[in-house]
Amino acid sequence: MSAVNEIPYKIYLEENEMPDKWYNVRADMKNKPAPLLNPGTLKPVTVEEISAVFCEELSKMELDDTTAYFEIPEEIRNFYKMYRPSPLVRAYCLEKALDTPAHIYYKFEGNNTSGSHKLNSAIAQAYYAKKQGLKGVTTETGAGQWGTALSMACSYFGLDCQVYMVKVSYEQKPFRREVMRTYGANITPSPSMTTEVGRKINAEFPGTNGSLGCAISEAVEAAVSQEGYRYVLGSVLSQVLIHQSVIGLETKTALDKYGIKADIIIGCAGGGSNLGGLISPFAGEMLRGENNYRIIAVEPASCPSLTRGKYVYDFCDTGKVCPLAKMYTLGSGFMPSPSHAGGLRYHGMSSIVSQLYADGLIEATSVEQTEVFKNAVQFARTEGILPAPESSHAITVAIKEALKCKETGEQKNIVFGLTGTGYFDMYAYQSYLDGTMKDYIPTDEDIAKSLANVPKVD
Ligand SMILES: *Cc1c(COP(=O)(O)O)cnc(C)c1O
Repeated sequence: MSAVNEIPYKIYLEENEMPDKWYNVRADMKNKPAPLLNPGTLKPVTVEEISAVFCEELSKMELDDTTAYFEIPEEIRNFYKMYRPSPLVRAYCLEKALDTPAHIYYKFEGNNTSGSHKLNSAIAQAYYAKKQGLKGVTTETGAGQWGTALSMACSYFGLDCQVYMVKVSYEQKPFRREVMRTYGANITPSPSMTTEVGRKINAEFPGTNGSLGCAISEAVEAAVSQEGYRYVLGSVLSQVLIHQSVIGLETKTALDKYGIKADIIIGCAGGGSNLGGLISPFAGEMLRGENNYRIIAVEPASCPSLTRGKYVYDFCDTGKVCPLAKMYTLGSGFMPSPSHAGGLRYHGMSSIVSQLYADGLIEATSVEQTEVFKNAVQFARTEGILPAPESSHAITVAIKEALKCKETGEQKNIVFGLTGTGYFDMYAYQSYLDGTMKDYIPTDEDIAKSLANVPKVD
């Protein structure tokens, strides 16, 4: 590197530069996301209706598409201070390895014990549950990141935390399970015999490995059948995107501090909350006509809801208990083939991200997992951080865009979200390094079959 680096490797913000408000991008959207519908009446849900399942304050936030900013309560800000502001890192070493004129930046959300961005919303949801005087919350976890984040948040506020963990993960990821127990959570492998729906599924499919949809159904049943409990969810919902806007707000402050204008912003998309949180302030500028960016959502080729799904009303869960949301979906019964990016195996997509995509504000692309791991390894070897498989989807497209700049000689500013670390995904790395990893891509027929079962609305 010949020139003096004016931009530090890590752009840290001061504590007082952390946002004190979350941003709700829906306030700036002319085309609002379609309302959530009651699955029984097919009418837009009310705060009263969803408050039976979700915390009241969060239910209000969920349905509010006009308030642009929500004050972050001091208790939450104090918790954030233990691991935020998170650094925006200039990937000098990766740029050098790629020999690209592009400048690459990543916002690193893996610097907390849960290892991902999910803690940003977990702590908010636990706070509002505590404030409402609840005893505890229930949830499901697949890969385990969300359950871990929620366990940490609940232990901080002294709430009971009941996690239904997909049985196959419970058995294959014992370390995740034990981290959650260390924070005091109760972990039940799903399907279990503790709920009616679990007993039914066990009777119908003896020896089943479980699924996320089934774990959701158990968690919801546990919430509504116990006094003083509510159900919480780690992605997809608009309230989660609002909490995750801290990622984007901090990124914007850090870029502004050095006079950097992002050209391309990239995030991986599971349920869409990390991507939505990262891009919200930037999308807001686009919506208000102040600025322009290329925003790219990256999904796994094994679960391509934006790139191959349909924009229709669908169930958010396999159990069909949550409200219906209009979103890009593969059908709630879609069973993604085995993939190592557990956090990206969701059949649908946040209704906010879906509407922005439908309106052409963001692009979407899908990538295959062997390519993702090749880039994950290159990233680990150059930048040092061992990335989560989910995050490595964003890395992959950042690298692709940087290599395009090499061809054209353009010096673009590429910003991507590095959502977490991959220490609990070493079986995945092992299978890549051993050369046994395979790519799975659903056929058009698979997708059409699953989409045939979306509910008929209108
Ligand atoms: C859960 C998870 C994701 C997916 O996030 P969404 O907000 O659901 O899109 C991405 N990366 C990591 C590390 C995760 O744990």
